Amino acid sequence: MIDQSLVLIKPDGVQRGLVGEILSRFEKVGLTIVGMKMFWVTPDFAKKHYNAHVDKAFYAGLEAMITEGPVIAMVLEGVNAVELVRKMVGGTEPKSAQPGTIRGDYAHVSYEYADEKGIAIKNLIHASGNLEEAKQEVALWFTKEELHKYEPTHEKHTR
Ligand code: AMP
Repeated sequence: MIDQSLVLIKPDGVQRGLVGEILSRFEKVGLTIVGMKMFWVTPDFAKKHYNAHVDKAFYAGLEAMITEGPVIAMVLEGVNAVELVRKMVGGTEPKSAQPGTIRGDYAHVSYEYADEKGIAIKNLIHASGNLEEAKQEVALWFTKEELHKYEPTHEKHTR
């Protein structure tokens, strides 16, 4: 039941100075940060990470967006972490993401707007979609040595 999710604060979130706000939500809910780094994604690496999207019409914009500045990459661990993180992040389109979710609270644009401008939708975060994707993404982004096991002192109450 305890799993790990790969979470990215994308260049729009880093450049807007929202790293602390976003991180604090994940910490407060009781998730454990087991790995974290700042990384400037290259076009080659973007193609690996967004492998499922390379043939889509919006891929050029997506690659431009994810490579336009450094991202904060992290691995968050907790009870059903993959599902929990997706719930906290909210729907892909900020316009329809629920208030209270990260995308719903810190962004507002629509697919229609992004498509008309020919850019990827700026939605601050990437989070693994399911357990299988999470395993592949954690392995793509982090070596074993970059992931840490330690005892969070609040675990007695949060798990
Ligand atoms: P995901 O793998 O779910 O993170 O999707 C990749 C990213 O592509 C999303 O987070 C958006 O930033 C972007 N994206 C997805 N669908 C569209 C779309 N129709 N138009 C523009 N950008 C999109």
